[in-house]
Amino acid sequence: MNRSVAALESSPALVLNADFRPLSYYPLSLWSWQDAVKAVFLDRVNIVSEYDQQVSSPNFKMRLPSVVSLKTYVKPALFPAFTRFNVFLRDRFTCQYCGVQSDLTFDHVIPRSRGGQTRWDNVVAACSPCNLAKGGEMPEVIGMLPMQAPYRPTVFELHRNGRLFPPNYLHESWLDYLYWDSELEP
Ligand SMILES: [Zn+2]
Repeated sequence: MNRSVAALESSPALVLNADFRPLSYYPLSLWSWQDAVKAVFLDRVNIVSEYDQQVSSPNFKMRLPSVVSLKTYVKPALFPAFTRFNVFLRDRFTCQYCGVQSDLTFDHVIPRSRGGQTRWDNVVAACSPCNLAKGGEMPEVIGMLPMQAPYRPTVFELHRNGRLFPPNYLHESWLDYLYWDSELEP
């Protein structure tokens, strides 16, 4: 290998479905360069775009893929994974009690100590002060009801919010595949 480990570690490939849309938005479907190269050799993907970086060994040399597309279409999931990031994205990174957009935590509307579960319909984004103020009280008792009742969003709904909060790192070769439909918004 003729590249530094650090440079290689930061070269993930965006994975597109066979229809050239990302396999998943939330989280964004990214593979490590190792997985991407392996999939190329297993003939499971086509290389759509490449980084300038190369890997080489005595037997082969190739530029690292920056975008790959699956050869076989996979039916996309209707509902996104239940993750902290996706809860924040549903709530637009806004505390559901006071509206601030900083110091966010994960709040159980019905506290766990009172049987509240860790599910889409019982968890909201809340800033630390609100989370602390609410403590283990029931929302009606302490008068703290979330602005929007928590619910399980569809991938489409997260995608709509996701345009407002793009990921920190996007390689230029990915942009055509991530926001190709944003122009259609009024
Ligand atoms: Zn708050």
